[in-house]
Amino acid sequence: MGEFDLIERYFKRPARQAALGVGDDCALLQPAPGTQLAISCDMLVQGRHFFADVDPFTLGHKALAVNLSDLAACGAKPLAFTLALALPRADEAWLAPFAQGLFALADAHGCELVGGDTTQGPLNICITVFGEVPVLNGRSQALLRSGARAGDDLYVSGTLGDARLALEVLRGTVSLPAPLLAAARLRLEQPTPRVALGLALRGLATAAIDVSDGLLGDLGHILQQSGVGATVNTELALALVAARADYPAAGTGSGAATRPAQWLGWALAGGDDYELLFTAPTSRRDAVAAAARTSQTAVTRIGQIDAERGLRLLDGKGQAVPNTYTSFEHFA
Ligand code: ADP
Ligand code: MG
Repeated sequence: MGEFDLIERYFKRPARQAALGVGDDCALLQPAPGTQLAISCDMLVQGRHFFADVDPFTLGHKALAVNLSDLAACGAKPLAFTLALALPRADEAWLAPFAQGLFALADAHGCELVGGDTTQGPLNICITVFGEVPVLNGRSQALLRSGARAGDDLYVSGTLGDARLALEVLRGTVSLPAPLLAAARLRLEQPTPRVALGLALRGLATAAIDVSDGLLGDLGHILQQSGVGATVNTELALALVAARADYPAAGTGSGAATRPAQWLGWALAGGDDYELLFTAPTSRRDAVAAAARTSQTAVTRIGQIDAERGLRLLDGKGQAVPNTYTSFEHFA
């Protein structure tokens, strides 16, 4: 199977919303009047972002999910994406489930594949997504990192740390009862992009980012770009590690390897969570609760934005917790 058969067979589907899809030199998108295009690109590299033997269905899902998560963080509605794929061989047993995982998530979000590039090489997946954001009275409704204000509440969606826990189990540094590993592994391999929540937060959140490198590291980007500081309640963050709540019930035997300190590190700096971290004025708490309900996404208030720069961590009793947590950074 050559390059063009491969594209035809696995990646070409009839265009839906796009004015022109796969098959010509360019795809054509028609943004609705009064909207801006939100564009984001994320690359997944074997050995760096995933193991060589990962299930191709989940890899297809994750490659698109991490990109949709960026659209969610901007409050953008997914429209279309391109796929640049380097593959060692045209292996149909890999391509078929990869395409299935990719299109299952794409279809769930009405986001269509409109083009890409296919080449032989070490496995590498690069997706660019295009989303739509309305412009109202000349103002973009996109959520940015730069809008947090002193006094705002700080929220995070969903759960934290479970993806990192699964990664540590796969690396062999900790062990976990099978049912808990299955749940944690889903968080690592098939994260849920919080697109509906991002849309519901338009005109409500003052700043937003998706948590990909770790909660505190990504919070640092909001603080820096907004010129503010924050206080985070570590006990509330710790409570968001789903596996931790279930851990004793599922039986231990490996408890020593999963000390509480590690749980907290995974919650605050685990990475690969793909949750939304956002700020909103305290006066809008009811509206945030309504946004969580309409998007069917759990949201937890974990802290507040301060005028004083820097990041302060407090435990449940209000005692300072030293910040020794480092989020992921390439080349660091
Ligand atoms: P060109 O060389 O003109 O850039 P290609 O021959 O690489 O185009 O690709 C032919 C068509 O197939 C183009 O429309 C391109 O966007 C599309 N395409 C190539 N690879 C992929 C892929 N992995 N997924 C979706 N579309 C693809
Ligand atoms: Mg061409």
